[in-house]
Amino acid sequence: MEEMRGAAMAYYANMSIDQQQKLLSFYKSLDTNGDGKVSIPEYLDFLVKKGYTRHMPSNLFKLLDENNDGTLDFEECVTFFYMINVRRLVICDGCGSYLWGLYFLCVKCYSARKRTYDLCCSCYRNKNFIHAHSNFLDNCALLRTNTKNFEYGDEQTCISAYPLQSP
Ligand SMILES: [Zn+2]
Ligand SMILES: [Zn+2]
Repeated sequence: MEEMRGAAMAYYANMSIDQQQKLLSFYKSLDTNGDGKVSIPEYLDFLVKKGYTRHMPSNLFKLLDENNDGTLDFEECVTFFYMINVRRLVICDGCGSYLWGLYFLCVKCYSARKRTYDLCCSCYRNKNFIHAHSNFLDNCALLRTNTKNFEYGDEQTCISAYPLQSP
């Protein structure tokens, strides 16, 4: 979570006006009674409204609530915003959990630039998935892969020119 928070703050520091507006309306959609704090019921309402309940870790609110005061202030919401809108909501195709940090992607689906097929480490390790392709790489390895060492027949694509998660 520390890593996610750090990334969110770095992103926040470099935001365009447009992104700031987006963040502000995101915050307003969370803080429905407008008291400047996001309470647990407001947070849960938001998850239900957006259909995120199934995917978010049940302890996410606790993780986001850095100072442990039982509500999310603006800064804590920046991390939440970052997770959903910038990192995108990447869900494990095996167990449906939110993927943060390292996870595995199907190389064929990725290089075909179709919808990616993503797996958390434990689903990949325990083969908890049914998928037509079998070549998987973790997201960091895939980002570093370029045309030179990317050998999958005619599917050669310049991966490095195609960032995994462009904002
Ligand atoms: Zn999984
Ligand atoms: Zn695939």
